[in-house]
Amino acid sequence: MAEAVWVTHSAGVARAMAELLIEGQSHTDLHGCEITRFEKVQTSDQYVSETSQQNFVEIYDVLHPLQPKESPRDLRVSPFNVRQKELGAFFLESAGWERPHWFEANRGLLAELPAEWQAPERDEWSAMFSSPISAAEAWKTRTAVGLYDMTPLKRLAVNGPGAQDLLHRLSTGNITKKPGAVTYCLLLEHDGGIRSDVTVARLGEEDFQLGVNSNVDFDYLRVEARKQSAADPARWVHVSDITGSTCCIGLWGPLAREVIGKVSADDLSNDGLKYFRTKEISVGGIPVTAMRLSYVGELGWELYTTAEYGLGLWDLLYEAGQEQGIVAAGRGAFNSMRLEKGYRLWGTDMTSEHHPYQAGLGFSVAKDKAGFVGAEALAALKERQPDKILRCLTVDDGTSLVLGKEPVYVNGEAAGYVTSAAYGYSIRKPLAYAWLPASVSEGAAVELEYFGLRVAATVTAEPLFDPGMERLRG
Ligand SMILES: Cc1cc2nc3c(=O)[nH]c(=O)nc-3n(C[C@H](O)[C@H](O)[C@H](O)COP(=O)(O)OP(=O)(O)OC[C@H]3O[C@@H](n4cnc5c(N)ncnc54)[C@H](O)[C@@H]3O)c2cc1C
Repeated sequence: MAEAVWVTHSAGVARAMAELLIEGQSHTDLHGCEITRFEKVQTSDQYVSETSQQNFVEIYDVLHPLQPKESPRDLRVSPFNVRQKELGAFFLESAGWERPHWFEANRGLLAELPAEWQAPERDEWSAMFSSPISAAEAWKTRTAVGLYDMTPLKRLAVNGPGAQDLLHRLSTGNITKKPGAVTYCLLLEHDGGIRSDVTVARLGEEDFQLGVNSNVDFDYLRVEARKQSAADPARWVHVSDITGSTCCIGLWGPLAREVIGKVSADDLSNDGLKYFRTKEISVGGIPVTAMRLSYVGELGWELYTTAEYGLGLWDLLYEAGQEQGIVAAGRGAFNSMRLEKGYRLWGTDMTSEHHPYQAGLGFSVAKDKAGFVGAEALAALKERQPDKILRCLTVDDGTSLVLGKEPVYVNGEAAGYVTSAAYGYSIRKPLAYAWLPASVSEGAAVELEYFGLRVAATVTAEPLFDPGMERLRG
């Protein structure tokens, strides 16, 4: 059963429904309608009642893209929440989680911020839910070290004798590597569309930890695991959501190794733990799974532990890093730096409407791998020139910001749309990612529409920051 919310949706809803009935899959991304997208806490009567009442009031409002829910809030908080509040965190909400966007405690750094790191003043709309403090947090992360709360990123444990088979069948990656390997790869639809991107860490022969995007991924993997276990009990596999029982700190920046060296005797040198590798370490006696990854493109680790140790881990690292000028940093700085590195965000930058070669993610399809979901469609798509490509744009005047979802004009004609956008503190200009026809190549002049204004931008080679990966491998 399907029903459009507005007349404008009705023909599209009818088509998506027909495709689902006839082909088993819609060519329109429907993850926003997927019933399994809700976290458990979002299905209670209280939650539904409160959010519905807010929706009713806001139905005809123009909402800012970061406009938070007023209520219910504080449903899910990481173990670091108490310290984040002490540091004056400004929180926004996602999937029930409170996520710091910047810390007022870092306001004093603005007095020290070098002129080249200062961002231009924002217009009234883009200044909402944003702070100049994010510039200082990005500066400190790129030049010293930042502490990021990565707890809200959904994590799954996939265990059992059939774990490797399950992940091999559902993902584009070579996940059969020895324990200690971490693989970034994709889950595809049968037509080759990207249903999710995942980070697969092999902790043991039969034990994997996955970073995924949402409850939809959990449901998909769990259903597939049950099917596999039922079909062949010897290859049973169990998928569990460990997000709430664990936590994660991103310790990132050129001085990250100096900081962790003070509280851990484990070998975290380049050889001791290579890029995209994982191992168990001890940080001040706390058992930690360290993964050498960074969404902001700096030296460092994602440090995972179970929830009861979280606060202790935060305190140890924060104290150890004082000499190095460590800062707690929020999503304002994070989002800018991830875009400077060209790291895509599933659901925003790409969805099931896009395939890996359009989205610039061909590298995440293992060479010579066959037999995974979407492999046949992908083999055909690889031979074809993509019709559209996710492109990186920089804003020519160096100051005008867009926020995402704006139309992009090529030769005066609407040709695509912005996915993510931010001010790039390290590259000193605003940047945006946008879907554009493949014929629009690097160096092309385009225009972004922002509240009726046309903002000149240029299609640019990516990533804009550290294309040689020297900082990550440093
Ligand atoms: C009072 C009111 C005011 C609205 N105002 C606006 C507005 O100003 N702007 C706006 O954009 N939207 C408005 N809407 C919403 C909009 O009308 C709906 O979102 C849209 O019509 C939904 O389209 P649909 O194709 O999903 O369903 P429908 O338009 O409901 O079409 C479903 C069709 O299926 C038929 N049907 C049902 N069961 C069967 C069956 N078993 N066999 C055969 N046929 C069947 C029904 O008779 C109906 O013709 C309004 C809705 C209402 C009720």
